[in-house]
Amino acid sequence: MKRVEEISKLKLTPGDDVCVIEEFLPGAGAYEHKGLVKSAVVGTPKLDLNLRVVYVTPLSKKPSMPEAGSLVYGVVVLVKDEYAVVKIVCDAKGTRYSTPFTGVIHITQVSDKYVKSLYELLGLGDVVKAKVLNDSIPYNLTIKEARLGIVATSCRVCGGKLVKTGEGLKCSECGTVDKRRVSSEYGHIKCVI
Ligand SMILES: [Zn+2]
Repeated sequence: MKRVEEISKLKLTPGDDVCVIEEFLPGAGAYEHKGLVKSAVVGTPKLDLNLRVVYVTPLSKKPSMPEAGSLVYGVVVLVKDEYAVVKIVCDAKGTRYSTPFTGVIHITQVSDKYVKSLYELLGLGDVVKAKVLNDSIPYNLTIKEARLGIVATSCRVCGGKLVKTGEGLKCSECGTVDKRRVSSEYGHIKCVI
């Protein structure tokens, strides 16, 4: 079994020796050359001890990350007067990132109008569609454009469904009026999170 352990630990690049053909036959990601099993890809070996075959599993591609100019969806996890923190969960197509990223919406990136505090405009747990402004963590986000902003939320008082009205949002359960900064697509797109 010592050999199995040795082989399993290999970090392979194309052309690297994996083992000799008497030990394992080459499976996907491997090939034979002059009695040696070699790797065809950058990856790690996976052994099938029953079939005596070695596969080389390619290293997964670089995990996708938000980039400047792209649209993302996230959940508001903190609201302060001047900024809100968003847990970025997925990209514009709804494809989840392997790990969530931290985004920040500054008070100047919410509306073209003067904003005194973000408390009225964003709530904990709101799902926002936002545009990424930079290429590093924490990501700075903007929801200034009409199509950006909250795409899913609920009443602060009763948790009921908020419906868009002329002046803003109104709770369909208790009638509370809400001034949150919703996207122009609010009510028209399905929540992706
Ligand atoms: Zn309500």
